[in-house]
Amino acid sequence: MCLICIEIAKGAMTTTEARRALGEMRTKLGNEHVAEVETKLREAEAADPNPTKTP
Ligand SMILES: [Zn+2]
Repeated sequence: MCLICIEIAKGAMTTTEARRALGEMRTKLGNEHVAEVETKLREAEAADPNPTKTP
């Protein structure tokens, strides 16, 4: 669990923002957690493919 996971869980960050943050935090998080976050992002995108239209 990291800031990105928390923000995604809260719906406070779009997947686009989360991917940008993930790029910046990649080295700190480590490969294993980066893979976990990418999975969460894919799930979030599948559930809501157009997040900019949701409030
Ligand atoms: Zn995380």
